[in-house]
Amino acid sequence: MHKVVIIGSGCAGLTAAIYAGRANLSPLVLEGHEPGGQLSLTTHVENYPGFPEGILGPELIENMRKQAQKFGAHFKAGTVSEVDLTNRPFKIKVGNEIYEAQSLIVAAGASARLLGLQGEKELIGRGLSTCATCDGYFFRGKPIAVVGGGDSAMEESNFLSRYASKVYVIHRRNEFRASKIMIARARANAKIEFVTPYVIEEILSPAGLVSGVRLHHTQSGEKREITLDGVFVAIGHDPNSTAFRGKLDMDDNGYLIPRHGSLTSIPGVFVAGDVQDHRYRQAVTAAGSGCMAAIDAEKFLEEHKG
Ligand code: NAP
Repeated sequence: MHKVVIIGSGCAGLTAAIYAGRANLSPLVLEGHEPGGQLSLTTHVENYPGFPEGILGPELIENMRKQAQKFGAHFKAGTVSEVDLTNRPFKIKVGNEIYEAQSLIVAAGASARLLGLQGEKELIGRGLSTCATCDGYFFRGKPIAVVGGGDSAMEESNFLSRYASKVYVIHRRNEFRASKIMIARARANAKIEFVTPYVIEEILSPAGLVSGVRLHHTQSGEKREITLDGVFVAIGHDPNSTAFRGKLDMDDNGYLIPRHGSLTSIPGVFVAGDVQDHRYRQAVTAAGSGCMAAIDAEKFLEEHKG
């Protein structure tokens, strides 16, 4: 029986573990399918307060993990397949193991969608990115592409145009899902060029670094190559909330909806990080919400002693 089980080991989960650990709650952290979360997939993090020279994403996560362990957090590998939240203690299934918890913090994160191209994952941090705010700065004066036709793609294109010499927005249709105002803003930006309707057939990287893309016109079949240094994939995120479907409130896209602070519709179950946030999605906001969830869990346990 655990006082607090934390699902997820990204920035939100680890911050919750630090706070719950310091509150003597000996939290158990279930690491999930991507230990360390999205930060472990980024290179330099230059906007996390306290690191004026920046810090590598995996290093920041490793530091947080050590800090959580120092305060008594325990870690178990594996992904949660099922939860039973009908009564306390809650039951959480990982593989063949079932963990029991008096309180639960869901910090399972979200995963950026990728295009599904061969070798794509290996290019993350080598010119391919899913996070403009994280990596835009590294493309100063260089041509790049943003893939997608939603608000994220428009917002990221505009943001990236501050750094890049040229931003190609590559979208598979001539119509856009993004709001009119966001499209208008992108169209008015002299550095942004729309390339539609095209899909990326291959990301060119002969030396292991992104050097261009080969495109395929979805109607005529015409092929085209563009030389560039970076590709930002902005085709949406998927919250890792499948195990909670029908059990916790979520919006149409699967993002969990807290009721009050980090508390969900079930007393004793709290949420933090990107699994409940499609708006900010920053390491520092995830950490902040992890802290909130741990404080809420601590108060809950205090009020429901015995
Ligand atoms: P989204 O609205 O789901 O758009 C995803 C885009 O990626 C679509 O244009 C889609 O094309 C394209 N796409 C999906 N899979 C693809 C694939 N395999 N290959 C090529 N293209 C693919 O996602 P989002 O832009 O991340 O936005 C998510 C939510 O956050 C939305 O509700 C959005 O309004 C909101 N948001 C708001 C703001 C803001 O207001 N400031 C900023 C960012 C996000 P199709 O259109 O052809 O399906």
